Amino acid sequence: MKINIPKKVLFIINTLEKEAYEAYAVGGCIRDSIIGDTPKDWDICTSALPEQVKKCFKKYHVIETGLKHGTVTLMINRKPYEITTFRIDGDYSNNRHPDKVNFVRVLKDDLSRRDFTINSMAYNPTVGLVDYFNGVSDIKNRIIRCVGDANKRFQEDALRIMRAIRFASVLGFDIETETSNAIDVNKELLQNIAVERISVELNKLLTGINASKILLSFSSIIEEIIPELKPMIKFNENNPNIFNTWKHTIKSIQNIPEKVDLRLTMLLHDIRKPENNSTDGNKKHQQESSEAARKTLKRLKYDNKTIKMVKTLILYFDENIQPDNIHVKRWLFNIGEETFRKLLIVKRADITSQEEINNKELENLDVVSLVLAKIVEQNQCYSLNTLAINGKDLMDIGVPKGEEIGEILNQLLDLVINEKIKNDKQQLLKEAKKLSGVTP
Ligand code: ATP
Ligand code: MG
Repeated sequence: MKINIPKKVLFIINTLEKEAYEAYAVGGCIRDSIIGDTPKDWDICTSALPEQVKKCFKKYHVIETGLKHGTVTLMINRKPYEITTFRIDGDYSNNRHPDKVNFVRVLKDDLSRRDFTINSMAYNPTVGLVDYFNGVSDIKNRIIRCVGDANKRFQEDALRIMRAIRFASVLGFDIETETSNAIDVNKELLQNIAVERISVELNKLLTGINASKILLSFSSIIEEIIPELKPMIKFNENNPNIFNTWKHTIKSIQNIPEKVDLRLTMLLHDIRKPENNSTDGNKKHQQESSEAARKTLKRLKYDNKTIKMVKTLILYFDENIQPDNIHVKRWLFNIGEETFRKLLIVKRADITSQEEINNKELENLDVVSLVLAKIVEQNQCYSLNTLAINGKDLMDIGVPKGEEIGEILNQLLDLVINEKIKNDKQQLLKEAKKLSGVTP
């Protein structure tokens, strides 16, 4: 098997080999190359100790990114390359990060501490592919399998549970039986893992091509990391004739583009449905689900922008949007164009994921989209930024500086949005004079 190694990586390997060290490209980049994907980055492993690596690249900028773990980062043309000394992990406490690492002389030891067979291959042009754990065969058969004893590997580091289902989702692979049994047996150990690390994996899982399948087969892992979802996942679970909320949720994830905020919105949009399931509970359901989603994402340490977006989308996903110019402009004024566009996508995913699709609602959405397109194309005004006059114009006609300026601008904007007057400077000035009592 031949792997196309970039020139810079080849240079790094050659430089280390010239000094009689071993060096290989390793891990994710080899996996992706064999699959036929372009690797995001190229990691290198070597028998050289970090100090020795630094000596080999004296002329370059080398950053000591993780000396304790044997990693230095070499910068070539502003691009970083991680070079890590062959190592095995020391004892693990609390099912995460090893307490310390031990540097070793042989590649095989380094490869055997890696998580999955597909991630434990190394390559250099002289030796070729090194594949002690049959990674190539598992890639061919599209299988995620732990290196060594699966139970032990998840007990060492429970984050691997998330990594396993994430790779299965992203690559569309199946998880081998022993590995998937060990995932189930050890799932509670995920409680020992920092939430930030879990959400990184959750994001990748949710945006993977096989997200729905994995969410369905590993619902118990989702319950483990987001116990807030448990009542919803369990809701009507035992009635096989019912298209239940969890199935609807999973389907809606499949029906929405693979963006983190959109997929999180679908994952959480019915989180409080079981508690608000009466027909008149819709509004309350949205409000409570929105708030519960906010709290959940906060706990999982998501960034504020994502939290705000998801919270807003869930608050309005079930709202009926009237397909006329004025209403759409009001929406745009209230939540902004970006959020409104996402809201339409969320509504569409929600509607198309019901057991019975409501075509009327879909047609309504189509018209709303057309109305929106026209508003944007014609640059129609729905915000203060695009109002044809500003505070200075008002002061020029004699409105005193202070609160009144803002109030008048907002009243004018309201008139423009509601199409009572045109967004035209002269007309707006005339109206402003009336509103402010300034003599015309
Ligand atoms: P990605 O494409 O997401 O970067 P990756 O496999 O390269 O996937 P990294 O987190 O960059 O993932 O890790 C690089 C390599 O380090 C992996 O391929 C694997 O060999 C090893 N590795 C990473 N995390 C673990 C872990 N928790 N346990 C064991 N080995 C790991
Ligand atoms: Mg990587």
